[in-house]
Amino acid sequence: MKKLILICMSSLLMACGAEKSASHSIKEFKYSVDKFADVEILRYRVSDFENLSLKQKELIFYLSQAALEGRDILYDQNNKYNLCIRRTLEAVFENYKGDRKSADFENLTTYLKRVWMGNGIHHHYSEEKFIPEFSAAYFKLAVKSIDPGKLPLSKGETVEELIVKLTPILFDPEIFSKRTNQAEGVDLIQTSANNLYEGVTQTEVENFYLNMKNPNDNTPISYGLNSKLMKENGKLVEKTYKVGGMYSAAIQRIVNWLEKAANVAENNNQRDVILTLIDFYKTGNLKTYDDYSIKWVEDLTSQIDFVNGFTETYGDPLGLKGSWESLVNFKNIEATKRTEIISSNAQWFEDNSPVDKQFKKEKVKGVSAKVITAAILAGDCYPATPIGINLPNTNWIRRDHGSKSVTIENITKAYDQASLGNGFAEEFMWSDVERKRAKDFASMTNNLHTDLHECLGHGSGKLLPGVDPDALKAYGSTIEEARADLFGLYYMGDKRIVELGLLPDKDAYKAEYYQFLMNGLMTQLTRIQPDKNIEEAHMRNRQLIASWVYERAKVDKSIEMITRNGETFVKINDYQKVRALFGQLLAEIQRIKSTGDYEGGKKLVETYGVKVNQTLHAEVLERYKKLNLAPYRGFVNPVYTLVKNGKDEITDVTISYNEDYVEQHLRYSKEFSSLNTNN
Ligand code: ZN
Repeated sequence: MKKLILICMSSLLMACGAEKSASHSIKEFKYSVDKFADVEILRYRVSDFENLSLKQKELIFYLSQAALEGRDILYDQNNKYNLCIRRTLEAVFENYKGDRKSADFENLTTYLKRVWMGNGIHHHYSEEKFIPEFSAAYFKLAVKSIDPGKLPLSKGETVEELIVKLTPILFDPEIFSKRTNQAEGVDLIQTSANNLYEGVTQTEVENFYLNMKNPNDNTPISYGLNSKLMKENGKLVEKTYKVGGMYSAAIQRIVNWLEKAANVAENNNQRDVILTLIDFYKTGNLKTYDDYSIKWVEDLTSQIDFVNGFTETYGDPLGLKGSWESLVNFKNIEATKRTEIISSNAQWFEDNSPVDKQFKKEKVKGVSAKVITAAILAGDCYPATPIGINLPNTNWIRRDHGSKSVTIENITKAYDQASLGNGFAEEFMWSDVERKRAKDFASMTNNLHTDLHECLGHGSGKLLPGVDPDALKAYGSTIEEARADLFGLYYMGDKRIVELGLLPDKDAYKAEYYQFLMNGLMTQLTRIQPDKNIEEAHMRNRQLIASWVYERAKVDKSIEMITRNGETFVKINDYQKVRALFGQLLAEIQRIKSTGDYEGGKKLVETYGVKVNQTLHAEVLERYKKLNLAPYRGFVNPVYTLVKNGKDEITDVTISYNEDYVEQHLRYSKEFSSLNTNN
C-alpha cells in the first residue's frame, strides 16, 4: 500500500527541468512511442547506464530477465482467462490474412494494445473491463481464419469451443465487469474478477485468515500474500505460488536468472538478499519472505537494487494477496543528496507535525530514501508504473527495521518532457501567475512532494497499542495515501524547506498546492468515465483532501471556484490558510489511522472521496477532449543485450531504445511466457 502513482497530466506541464548530469548526445530521443484509446506510451531513458561497471551491467541484465519472466503471473492473477485471451489475440494479430486495414482489424489491434496495457482485460487504472469495438462475429471469423496450431487450445479443445468460451468474457459487460471491486454492501470477493480467490465468499476468506492470526504475535507473517485461496472438495485450500506449486514454471525461470544475478552481486549483503529471495521462491515460506524483506531493507550500500515478487496488495479487495511486480534500478547519486537531507531531518519533521502527540513516533527509524533510475519495469509496474515506491509493506518490519523509499526520477522526467507545451495549463489554470509558477517550480515541487510522501509520510506516526493495522479495511489504502500526501503538503509550505535548501524560493510550494487542488477538485476527473464514481485509492485520496479543504476554505474565500466564460477554475487566495487546513486534516487522518477508527475513515472517504460532481465532470471532460491528450501513460522498456567475445566471455551489456510497443509485447510473449493456459 505504499506505491505512489503519478496521477495527473497537470503535474506534467512544466518547462524542462534542464538536462541534468552530463547527458550524452542522444538529442533525438523521442519520448512518445504510441497512442491508443486513452493511453499514450512513452519511452524512458536510463541515463548513466553506460557508466556502470561491467559487473553492475551484468547484474542489471540478469535481474531484468528475472523481472520479465514474471509477466504471465500477473496476467493470470488479474483474471484466469487473461493469458488465453492475450494469446488468442496475439495469434490473430500475427497471423490474420484478411484485410488488415479494416476498421475491425484496427479495433482488434487497439483492444490487444489495451490488454497489454492492463495486463489483462481490465483497465489498468479504473479496473473496469473494457469492451471490444469489434463484434463477436468478427472475433469468431478472425479466430477461425488462422491455423489452429497457433491458438492456445487446451487439451482436446476445438477452435469452436475456444471461441464459445472466450466470447462472453470479451463481450458481455456483466461478466467479470470489475477486476477489484471496492463497492459497498456486496461480497467483494465474489464480485471481483481477479483470480486470487475461487469459489469462496468474503466471509469465508475473512474467517480463514482471522483464524490464522495470533493477536499476540508482534511479528506476524503476511498471511495469504503468496497464494490463491480456493475450495477443493468443499474445503478451503491455499495454492501457494512457488517452485513446485502454483506458477511453478515462471517462478523456476525467475529463480534461474536470480541465481546468475547472485553470482555477480555487488557485495555479500546483496548476494544474501538475492539468495534469500530464491529460497522464498523455492519454499513459499512467508517467514523466509520476512527474512528477505529485512535483509533487503537493510542493504543500503549497493548501488543497484530491485523489487521482485508478490508485493502490493491493491489487486485484492481485502488487501491480502500480493500482485507480482518487478523493478530493477540503480541509485542516482547526485539527486539522492536531496532525499538524504530529508531523511536526516526526519525526526524534526515528526516532532513538528500537527498531529496529536500520542500518535507520533518518539523515534523515527531507518527512513532511508534515494532517487533512482529505473532500468526495467515489469509485472504490476509495467506498462503503467509508479513514480515512487516505499517498501516493504509489512508493518512490523517497517517498525523495527525501517523502510526504503525511492523516487524514480527518470520516469518523472519522461512524463515532464513528453508534456511540454501540450496546452493543459492554458486550459485549466486560472491565470499566468499560476502558469508561471508551475513552469518555474512544478517539476521540482512534484519531485519533492513525492520524496516527502515516500520518505516521511508513510513512515510517520504510529498505531496505538492493540490497534489492528487492517482495521480500516477497504478504506485503509485511501486513508494511508491521504496521510502520506498530507504530510508532504503540509511541510512543503514550511519555511524550513527553503532553509534546508530543498526549494529555492519561499513561494515555490504554491505551485504544488495549486496543482494538487486543481487536480483533486477538477482535472483528475478526466480519468473517470461519465456517470462513474471514483474507485481507485490514490484518486479517492486526492479528491478527499481537495474537497475537504475546499469546503472549509470557501467560507472565507481562501479558495474559490470561479466560472469564467462558462468554464470553471480553481483560484487560491490564501495559501497559508490552505496549509493550515492540510495540517488539520492530517491530524484527523492520523487519529483515524492510529486508533483504527473504521467508521471515521469510512465517513471521510465516502463523503469527500468517492462521489463525483456530474456537472463539473462533464465540463472537464469536454474541455479536456479539445486538447486531444491521453489521460494515462505507460512505458516501453529499453532492450539490454549481452555482448560476448570469441571465448564466450561477456565483454559488455548494451542498451538500446529502438523497440516499439507492439514489438516489445510480442517479443515478451515469446521469450517470457512459460505458464500454461489451463482453463
Ligand atoms: Zn503512497
